[in-house]
Amino acid sequence: MQCRAGCGACCIALSISSAIPGMATGKPAGVRCLQLNNDNKCLLYGKPERPAVCLGLKPSADMCGRNYKEAMANLEYLEKATEPDN
Ligand code: SF4
Repeated sequence: MQCRAGCGACCIALSISSAIPGMATGKPAGVRCLQLNNDNKCLLYGKPERPAVCLGLKPSADMCGRNYKEAMANLEYLEKATEPDN
């Protein structure tokens, strides 16, 4: 599966605990990554500064659903299900 062009749901819905350029402590869930441009494309794509966690996350039908709304709902569910207290 390929990423939907201009989606960016995973760059908003998920928390990232490692540093991102411009976000030294990563980002909380639901916060837009500073590296996501206005077209919802990663400004670091293909660059060494892109966090390893972003490189490792691959699109899948289960996660990305059929559209942005489904992707956000699935990602919010996954985020909550993998919180340390859960
Ligand atoms: S660094 Fe790029 S891929 Fe990672 S969350 Fe930010 S915009 Fe998305």
